[in-house]
Amino acid sequence: MISVQHLSKQFGRLEVLKDINTEIRKGEVIAVIGPSGSGKSTFLRCLNLLETPSAGSILIDGIPLLDRNTNVPKLRQRMGMVFQSFNLWSHLSVLDNLTLGPVKLLGKSRQEAEKKAIELLRLVGLAEKVHSFPDELSGGQKQRVAIARCLSMEPEILLFDEPTSALDPTMVSEVLAVIRRLSREGMTMVIVTHEMEFARNTASRVFFMEEGMIYEEGSPEQLFDNPAREKTRAFINRIRSIRFHLTSNDYDLYAMQGEMETFCEKHMLGRKVSNYVQAVAEEVLGLIPEISGLNLSLSYSEKEGDVIILCESPGEPFNPLEEGVQADDIGIRLIKGRCKSVDYRYEAGNNILLLDIQGS
Ligand code: ADP
Ligand code: MG
Repeated sequence: MISVQHLSKQFGRLEVLKDINTEIRKGEVIAVIGPSGSGKSTFLRCLNLLETPSAGSILIDGIPLLDRNTNVPKLRQRMGMVFQSFNLWSHLSVLDNLTLGPVKLLGKSRQEAEKKAIELLRLVGLAEKVHSFPDELSGGQKQRVAIARCLSMEPEILLFDEPTSALDPTMVSEVLAVIRRLSREGMTMVIVTHEMEFARNTASRVFFMEEGMIYEEGSPEQLFDNPAREKTRAFINRIRSIRFHLTSNDYDLYAMQGEMETFCEKHMLGRKVSNYVQAVAEEVLGLIPEISGLNLSLSYSEKEGDVIILCESPGEPFNPLEEGVQADDIGIRLIKGRCKSVDYRYEAGNNILLLDIQGS
């Protein structure tokens, strides 16, 4: 459906895309992941000509997008784009947001366009908001309206640029659910996302972008469980864990727990797991009398769905979960009650605690 050959894009002397070659087939769902600045947005914007590529070609069903004789507006209509920031028309009602394009650009009658708009609002679960204005909607609802608006133009391909990044974490899943539904209905989609769990469950193929190239691509299983190349591996490991370095007992517990919560939300681990992780981390730190140079990390194991807390503290051997007067401490019982397994070892001057919290 889309064929990209030797696509490159420069902004002045900055080479943002370098020789991208790929094919996207009908019905495929491509997740594009990669570090910030790697060219993901530029790649999407080149696909629907919001940016003009510096070189290379893009063919849509064999028709060259960059050829002077090609009817670009018409070809572009076959692609809808959903942005991070919704881009709804705030002075128009939801209904008008969905009918303006079809009436003006597709030449539909008002009646026809409204009928279709209501169908689409039903599809995204927002039929009751038909007469609302964008400002009266939550972020998640706005984004679902934006998706419906895109669909109102009857595109064959949908491009999403981080559709959930601007959302409050509690609203991410309602938007992802809509995208998942579209994927089940066979929509061809290219989705730039940081939601790895979603990418794994929904994408048929994943592109990992790095420094303006598709550095590695493959099935979600290949890319997430068995990345072939080093930078992919590093990226996957990084997004799966967060690390805290504590230099004294005066650490900011609430800020840390906030980050842990965001981490759990990002991997869609659910409230219970998130609460367990935060509580266990707090209790473990509470059992260590003198904190200096302690490392605490959370890693998410996609295979098991578990969260592993690793706590490394330098000093004399001391297992806070076993020793001394704290043996019957309430904190220890709480930790043991919430972990699938706890493991202590002493290695190279470090006390290492490994706590496994079962995913939901
Ligand atoms: P990503 O979406 O992966 O974070 P982008 O495609 O937004 O990456 O950006 C890739 C690089 O291109 C960045 O270094 C960015 O600063 C640069 N860039 C993006 N758009 C422009 C522009 N319009 N003008 C100049 N530089 C740009
Ligand atoms: Mg971007």
